[in-house]
Amino acid sequence: MMTTQVVNPATEQVVTTLELVSAAETDAAIERAQRAGADWRAVAPGDRARLLRRFADVVDANIEQLAQLEVTNAGHTIGNARWEAGNVRDVLHFAAGIPERLLGNQIPVAGGVDITFHEPLGVVGVIVPWNFPMPIAAWGFGPALAAGNTVVLKPAELTPLTAVRLGELALEAGMPEGVFQVLPGKGSVVGQRFVTHPAVRKVVFTGSTEVGKEIMAGCARHVKRVTLELGGKSANIVFADADVERAAATAPYGVFDNAGQDCCARSRILVQRSVFDRFLELLEPAVRGVRVGDPGDESTEMGPLISAAHRVRVASFIDPSTKVAFTGTQPQGPGFWYPPTVVLPDTPSDRVLTEEVFGPVVAVVPFEDEADALRIANDTEYGLSGSIWTNDVGRALRVARGVEAGNLSVNSHSSVRYWTPFGGFKQSGLGRELGPDAALAFTETKNVFIAT
Ligand code: NAP
Ligand code: MG
Repeated sequence: MMTTQVVNPATEQVVTTLELVSAAETDAAIERAQRAGADWRAVAPGDRARLLRRFADVVDANIEQLAQLEVTNAGHTIGNARWEAGNVRDVLHFAAGIPERLLGNQIPVAGGVDITFHEPLGVVGVIVPWNFPMPIAAWGFGPALAAGNTVVLKPAELTPLTAVRLGELALEAGMPEGVFQVLPGKGSVVGQRFVTHPAVRKVVFTGSTEVGKEIMAGCARHVKRVTLELGGKSANIVFADADVERAAATAPYGVFDNAGQDCCARSRILVQRSVFDRFLELLEPAVRGVRVGDPGDESTEMGPLISAAHRVRVASFIDPSTKVAFTGTQPQGPGFWYPPTVVLPDTPSDRVLTEEVFGPVVAVVPFEDEADALRIANDTEYGLSGSIWTNDVGRALRVARGVEAGNLSVNSHSSVRYWTPFGGFKQSGLGRELGPDAALAFTETKNVFIAT
């Protein structure tokens, strides 16, 4: 039997030891999910909605427990962790509105009636990374279940605890056995079986672009449906006509939230040259003011990185030749800490500008005008999110339309709402999650003609 030790990244203490699911057990779970599917898709829409609402209510009653688990397992700040558990509840409530609203079309035809149905796919496999274990899981299983699919979910090996608890809460809420199963295990074992097992009809993968490409290639063998949410290198573009004080005061939170382990992190700040020096002057106290420390403390704004290995990777972006403008603080003692770090790269080919750091490191770069800002913002294979700071509404819209990314915010850094679509352009992903069409990604459209 294979086991894994779950470690608290803020203390380096072992929290618990967990059994890992094997390939044979994965197959058995997939087959259980397949058998459960026949009954689940036949549950009346109103009853399926009621079950999802009850699941949401049970999550709501356990928000504090789920949040504390995430503080312990992932080092998330308690404020963030409560939001994340609340997001699972909200996604489930939103999903509960889907079963009675999964409307087809009636299309005018000669000699009969033509109607369309949104049929469930069958078993859906959801593969989740360690950076936002709860929300990313729910964005997959919520709408998939609502549309009549059954779900097998693999959490990241480093962060299985909240997913395992959500699996228990689903049963407590009355979800039938086999409809939603959580399988903690290795990506190369459990995740791979989702890709290769023919009964899994769709894989929803969130994680690195590198692994995402392998998943997509593996799914091609079965023409298996796939949604990919991958990496990012998003730009925060600050024009001279913006409220530069506010842009500088908020910039740290657009990149250092979750210690920068956020696919939407605005890890490149592009600043118009005429306000570049002033922006940096304002940014310095804002970065030094980020409260880094015990994630369980209500006033903490940034916790540790997820693991020792990840800290080595983040640190590799800073070498002796890197121009570090300034850094924030970090606690002493155990924990995988890394301070907020602001760098001024010399060339556009610097790794810190081309690769996803996935840590609290941000690069600040000057630009000349609107065209230059767009050129630099789009000079990346990624395209997930971005921010635009300007008080000119025309410019805000022109630049928002010009940036090749899926989620943009103007005079704000928010990218995620459960009722608006989320996903990436280019190598940041394929397909969209959340939003009004969330459930359609988990259905096949069937057209039926009836001769009259
Ligand atoms: P990762 O290494 O790609 O792993 C993600 C998940 O895939 C984990 O559950 C992992 O399992 C599993 N996995 C690994 N190899 C696999 C394989 N060959 N077959 C099937 N599954 C496999 O990514 P990560 O390091 O955990 O997460 C960080 C990345 O996620 C970043 O690049 C970030 O940008 C991206 N991300 C994107 C979004 C988005 O919405 N676009 C959101 C969050 C994160 P193990 O844990 O067992 O390795
Ligand atoms: Mg990995």
